[in-house]
Amino acid sequence: MKRRSTNHTIIAVILIILTVSLATVIFAHKKPRSLGLKQGQSSKTVSKTAEKVVRKNSRSTASWSGGNVRQAVHTLSRRIGVRTAGSRNEHRAANYIEKRLKDIGYKPKRQRFRVPGRKRSYNIIAGKIGRDPKKRIILGAHYDSKSPAPGANDNGSGVATLLELAKLFKSQNPRHSVIFVFFGAEERVGKNPNSHHFGSRYYVRRMSKSAKKRTFGMVSVDMVGYGRVFNVRSMKKGSMRQVNSLMRFAKRIKLRMKYLKDPGRTGWSDHEPFELNGVPAAWIEWRNDPRYHSKKDNFSHMQWRRITTTGRFLYKYLR
Ligand SMILES: [Zn+2]
Repeated sequence: MKRRSTNHTIIAVILIILTVSLATVIFAHKKPRSLGLKQGQSSKTVSKTAEKVVRKNSRSTASWSGGNVRQAVHTLSRRIGVRTAGSRNEHRAANYIEKRLKDIGYKPKRQRFRVPGRKRSYNIIAGKIGRDPKKRIILGAHYDSKSPAPGANDNGSGVATLLELAKLFKSQNPRHSVIFVFFGAEERVGKNPNSHHFGSRYYVRRMSKSAKKRTFGMVSVDMVGYGRVFNVRSMKKGSMRQVNSLMRFAKRIKLRMKYLKDPGRTGWSDHEPFELNGVPAAWIEWRNDPRYHSKKDNFSHMQWRRITTTGRFLYKYLR
């Protein structure tokens, strides 16, 4: 009797083992391995993981494109070339920027103003609403160049950076609202050292009091394609809020950034009229570029990684 029951027990144990291993083999094949599931994940975590995969993919489709950057600098500096204030080439550059913005999905506005010599120039403006729309940041880059420079670094680099950032923020909202302004006629016209920044000065003149108040700050992106030192600059004649905010952020992400004060009285980029009219402003620039304002400021002179660093920095800052 005792022996028989032992035999039964052995058979039962063998049967259980067989069933369990068969079940293991069958279910192992059904495991959704593509999502990289770990043991103990519920269906809820399964869908969350799938969501993450999707999000990661959609993020990667709207990523920084060095190809787009090179194409923009190529068009401005090679296909169009020297773009002095109010010239036909400057207007061609405005058309190009406008078209690129429309292709991305924006509805850019054109702001017309006069430049010396009975000529006209334009600011091209596009906006993106932020998660906190009460505050806004103006991001500016001038697209004219100073003869005889084809203006690859000064300032095809800044224009290309802004176009790429506009593309990235089309599919996601930045923290604050961002206004992208492509300024015409930044460079000096004639001999008077104060005869410059026509586009940005006009833009500031047309800003209402409340618009100025709502603006957290303005950043001029000018000459970001060549040099060894990443500078944030201002005239030290207005609020340092925007400068300090950029410096703090650079420190947080461990990017070396150095403050440099503009020499002289009128400022060296489009931050000038903002800074002098109550809008905290900063200019970011890589230094030094020995070829600026010369014929040699051309496409082959560019250090593309500088633009990438600048773009990624601004993207993280605004996100
Ligand atoms: Zn410039």
